[in-house]
Amino acid sequence: MTVQLGLPVLRQEAPYNRMKIPPRRPQGQPSGLFDRFGRRATDMRLSVTDKCNLRCTYCMPAEGLEWLPKPAVMTAEEIVRIVGIGVGRLGVRELRLTGGEPLVRGDLVDIVSALRCRHPDLPISMTTNGLGLDKKAELLRDAGLTRVNISLDSLHQETFTKITRRPYLGRVLAGVQAASSAGLGPIKINAVLMRGINDAEAPALLAWALEFGHELRFIEQMPLDADHGWSRRDMITATEIREILGTVFVLASDPGDRDGAPAERFRVRRRDPATGGPAGPVLGTVGIIASVTEPFCSDCRRTRITAEGTIMSCLFSRQEFDLLGLLREGAPEDELVRRWEDAMWIKPKAHGMEHTGLGAQDFVQPDRTMSAIGG
Ligand code: SAM
Ligand code: SF4
Repeated sequence: MTVQLGLPVLRQEAPYNRMKIPPRRPQGQPSGLFDRFGRRATDMRLSVTDKCNLRCTYCMPAEGLEWLPKPAVMTAEEIVRIVGIGVGRLGVRELRLTGGEPLVRGDLVDIVSALRCRHPDLPISMTTNGLGLDKKAELLRDAGLTRVNISLDSLHQETFTKITRRPYLGRVLAGVQAASSAGLGPIKINAVLMRGINDAEAPALLAWALEFGHELRFIEQMPLDADHGWSRRDMITATEIREILGTVFVLASDPGDRDGAPAERFRVRRRDPATGGPAGPVLGTVGIIASVTEPFCSDCRRTRITAEGTIMSCLFSRQEFDLLGLLREGAPEDELVRRWEDAMWIKPKAHGMEHTGLGAQDFVQPDRTMSAIGG
């Protein structure tokens, strides 16, 4: 499969760019996406679009965001080129496509196919809200997608609609089913819990995921919403998540190496109401991503490319660096490699979010929402 070269496009000024050119990293560093603290990024998150068809309250404003103009967004060919540099020159070993909602992009299947063609062994996954996956799951599998993460915060129509501001629960469930039938597993389900909205539903969500053999991961809500409505006091912490799940299940820490994965995994068994102890066999696992209260920055292996082709070394970075502009100027590949290495070299040690609301003021919410970064 080939991706057609489009006409040259005009580059729009990226609205969030504070500093387009990173300082040079010291000479003599090894080739690759290393930073000053000895970490190496090998896991690439690439946003294929900033657009989305849901309006999750923890992510987007009700009225949506002003979408990037089409010429500002990476073309399929540019995505393939950038991934090629990451994999071929910089040691990227894993790719996750994200957004916004990746499925709204009309040429997504072609993008996956072109990436697979060039990287036969690269794990390529996608994080999606599942809308439209019922029609695309088989095509994506045939194109070479390895697996999917699907976001689902509630199994109740009313709660789902309250959170996403759209009445599409049935369509998301159809997407989960289609992904499962197409073999895009193991399917991971991402859920964000919110106090008084869906926190009490956590055990039911887990029971559902276990029944269908999906791995549920609860993600602590992070301050990346457009409405700036996040508060440390209101968020449901990993400790609380374990407590809520503990009313129905017994969780035992999974001793397997996390290997840079953000989720701490637990083996799940039913709780015997009579004894309070575990009953029956291990039913599966659950993951808890404690990005706020138990951050895993010291083991972070991620490098992010936004839909307009800027490099972000961290979700919470307030600096991002232009890669696409350089590519469009026709810069030699070595220059693109150097830009990416320089941008990652100054990756912050940690996001500082765990201190929010606890007296320390070293965390400033980024301008971008999760959807505009690519979560
Ligand atoms: N639209 C796709 C989706 O929802 O799966 C992909 C992009 S979305 C930004 C990626 C993930 O980020 C989703 O699982 C979503 O639940 C999560 N997310 C968005 N905003 C978040 C926030 N403020 N805190 C924690 N997770 C968030
Ligand atoms: Fe869209 Fe995903 Fe953000 Fe929800 S979390 S608004 S589905 S980008």
